[in-house]
Amino acid sequence: MKILPLFLPFAGCTRRCIFCDEHLLTGQQRIPEIPDLIRTLEEYRIHLKPLESYQVAFYGGSFLSLSDVSARMYIESVLNAFSENELEGIRLSTTPESITKSSVNMLSQFPVSLVEIGVQSFDDHVLKLARRPHSVHDVYKAADLLKSAGIAFGIHLMTGLPGSTIKTELFSATEAVRIGAALCRLNPTLVLEETGLHKLLRNGLYKAQTLDEAIESLWRMYVLLEGNGVKVIRIGLCLNSKRDRERVVSGPYHPAIGDLVLSRVAFEMLFLLCSEGKKRYISLPVTQQQKSFFTGHRRMVERLLERSGIRVEYKIVNDAVLDTSQLLEDLCFCVSGGEVNEAFLDPPERVQELCASDEAQHIGRDNVSCRT
Ligand code: SF4
Repeated sequence: MKILPLFLPFAGCTRRCIFCDEHLLTGQQRIPEIPDLIRTLEEYRIHLKPLESYQVAFYGGSFLSLSDVSARMYIESVLNAFSENELEGIRLSTTPESITKSSVNMLSQFPVSLVEIGVQSFDDHVLKLARRPHSVHDVYKAADLLKSAGIAFGIHLMTGLPGSTIKTELFSATEAVRIGAALCRLNPTLVLEETGLHKLLRNGLYKAQTLDEAIESLWRMYVLLEGNGVKVIRIGLCLNSKRDRERVVSGPYHPAIGDLVLSRVAFEMLFLLCSEGKKRYISLPVTQQQKSFFTGHRRMVERLLERSGIRVEYKIVNDAVLDTSQLLEDLCFCVSGGEVNEAFLDPPERVQELCASDEAQHIGRDNVSCRT
């Protein structure tokens, strides 16, 4: 299924969040008029394959903070641009406090398939420092309203905001699961030129996460979310042009940050496999696809294993015998048993500890042969 995005930069925003520059992120300097949006859709359609299913998404700004009249006008214009059954549904992104009984009633009158809620954190202090227009209470209320109306929702979360810690970030991931999010986007905070955060940085009042720090948080959030059935659809901002990237003043920007996070997850899975059998060498039967996953971004996993004194050999098989979903669940259990496990907050020590640990859990996988 293809998403056709329509960007409405800062549309409906009641204030400017400390980290945000929608003009940079959407590549647009103004909110487009309806005819502009229809033209954009026409351009998208040229590239659609026959019978391909698609949804139109309103991104940028806070859609439900627009007046009821404007929100309806946008949705109706898109629906009118397609014939019946051509469009699978409409998605939109909005802030939690804009999700009210009346805005949800309005949405229920249209084929809205998903609402993406810009939550960013489940910590009120972090939200306040980021100048978000909502509280954590608004998030819970929004989730309840959408669930009662049968409208699926996704959640946006950030790492590295002022006042945020790995603990608040992991808590946010567990809360996203608990309130029933269908999917999640994870964004490490980048300091963009001329934002409130840039000002704080210049005044020495903010220090951005390093790439390593961001990954430490992101891989655990990924495991908590995916391990509990919440699909992580994107990690990190997409900055296409060199000019856009040059406007990142500080922060953990990496064009392949999603791959780095997945590589880290792959390493932790292998590490867990070794630690449960207290082995330094394992031979794994894997499909070609699983092998690519376990090799990781530019052989990152191999390098991490090497540093931990572990060697893995792969035997290619046609049908998967290694259950990676089970591995993800096991990892999820290690990161959190409902609560964040303190032992998993300090990776280098934990890596050493697990190697030596007699208490490593036995999970038992018949198809994995291990030897020391
Ligand atoms: S509500 Fe969203 S779009 Fe508006 S300023 Fe905040 S982060 Fe940017």
